[in-house]
Amino acid sequence: MVISSDEYRESLNDGRIVYYRGKLVENVAEHLALKVPVNHASSIYDLQADQNYRGMTCYNDDKLGNISSFYRIPQNTEELMQRHDLIYETTRLGRGQFNIVKAIGTDAIFALMYVTKRIDEKYQTSYYENVMKFYRYAAENDLSLALAQTDMKGDRSLKPSEQKDPDMYVHIVKREKEGIYVSGAKAHTTQSIAANELIVIPTRNMGAEDKDYAVAFAIPANTKGITMFARPLKEVETVQNDKLSVIGRKNVEVETITVFDNVFIPNDRIFLNGECDFAGFLAMMFPTFHRFTALSYRAALGDFLIGTGKLLAEYNGVAGKSNIRRNLSVLIKYKETLKANAIAAAYKCSYDKSSKLAIPNIVYTNVGKLFANENYTEVIKNIVDIAGGMVATMPSYEDFGNSDEEKILLKFLTARDKSETLDRVKLFQTLREFISSFGALYLAGMIHAEGSIEASILELNRSYDYSGSIALGKYAAGIEDHL
Ligand SMILES: Cc1cc2nc3c(=O)[nH]c(=O)nc-3n(C[C@H](O)[C@H](O)[C@H](O)COP(=O)(O)OP(=O)(O)OC[C@H]3O[C@@H](n4cnc5c(N)ncnc54)[C@H](O)[C@@H]3O)c2cc1C
Repeated sequence: MVISSDEYRESLNDGRIVYYRGKLVENVAEHLALKVPVNHASSIYDLQADQNYRGMTCYNDDKLGNISSFYRIPQNTEELMQRHDLIYETTRLGRGQFNIVKAIGTDAIFALMYVTKRIDEKYQTSYYENVMKFYRYAAENDLSLALAQTDMKGDRSLKPSEQKDPDMYVHIVKREKEGIYVSGAKAHTTQSIAANELIVIPTRNMGAEDKDYAVAFAIPANTKGITMFARPLKEVETVQNDKLSVIGRKNVEVETITVFDNVFIPNDRIFLNGECDFAGFLAMMFPTFHRFTALSYRAALGDFLIGTGKLLAEYNGVAGKSNIRRNLSVLIKYKETLKANAIAAAYKCSYDKSSKLAIPNIVYTNVGKLFANENYTEVIKNIVDIAGGMVATMPSYEDFGNSDEEKILLKFLTARDKSETLDRVKLFQTLREFISSFGALYLAGMIHAEGSIEASILELNRSYDYSGSIALGKYAAGIEDHL
């Protein structure tokens, strides 16, 4: 059953411990700044209730009934394409800003389905059953999920068990008959404050000495011992009264440092408990699904930038100029390369019989993700080049609120045509927010989120099948007579 956005917002008033700028937050859904990411998340629920989008955002499952389409388990190319379209379109409907609360958690659940089948086979555990039970519970109750993979990591040259402080990686501190206790902290957990449940998985491969760090589980965000420290939402705080601002007042997500202090995890919520040889495998399978998601939402972000760039070029009167066409082609290349990689990853997916899952092609997924990481700054350079300096120096909304000043400013901010001036001002404002108060988040996010540049390079080197290329190299050099 899908729930309403009001029910969703109410569900977050559950005693969870969240700190924002040094203060304990009473109710995230009503907090001056945090309500913005909560409302952004809730827009996914609004789409489910909207008859224009119900067909895309809801899915009638034989066993679970009417559920969110994010919870649909992809079993073939067509269903992966539907997932791509779902993420792409919901991001467009969020004004080009990703809405993570159901996408990331289901990416993790799919990876867990795949990996736990293999753990169970080797160790006769029953983790797959636990994952499926959690999956059904989350789908049937239409829950929002956050995924905490990235540990604080301390000294990056040391393994988890070698750290001076053992809490640098989330780990098991006690095992009891009914479950385990975990401590440590995860970094950058997007929308944890807006999630009903947190899914925790390892961030790296581990050896026998790291056994207690090889742990995966799902737990309600209000569980005793969990504390979330939110980043400051500067991009929200600076535009609270700004009538020209849209995205900063509506479409922002927030990350937390998520601390686990002796948190109890009952047995049926545990998906990995010391099987260290599977930690790296799980750490790698989750990004395979999540980078497919990343290609889909980043393509939509590209679409937002293309539209903004094209409109500004037109209003500035330079749309047909060859230099501007070159700028726009960089934006188009960014979006369409990501989309093409997502489509290729869906078409060249593999099917896993045991978990009944279609897995996006790992090479196309990582090639696309790497391209997205490495070319983002180029995209920003080109859109700023199109926009001109007014994107930085335009007067504020207060000046536009005062009729005398507004009249003068609108006269001088006219470019191609007077009737377009206010729209031009709005585009400058949106882009200014995007490259300034959103800038640090997006710069780090586009380079690091869904795994760093190095993580994709490692994955490509690990999974690339060189055999055909080597055969061709030998054939071309005359080492072999035939391919
Ligand atoms: C906006 C945003 C949202 C995010 N959302 C989430 C989320 O929802 N859930 C989640 O789990 N994570 C999330 N992340 C985390 C993201 O996956 C990480 O930022 C990324 O994996 C890099 O890890 P790090 O930040 O610890 O950087 P580091 O690991 O410190 O990396 C910094 C640099 O050091 C290099 N490096 C690190 N270790 C080594 C080593 N041993 N040898 C050589 N080089 C090394 C890296 O390659 C990189 O160049 C998010 C990140 C951002 C920025």
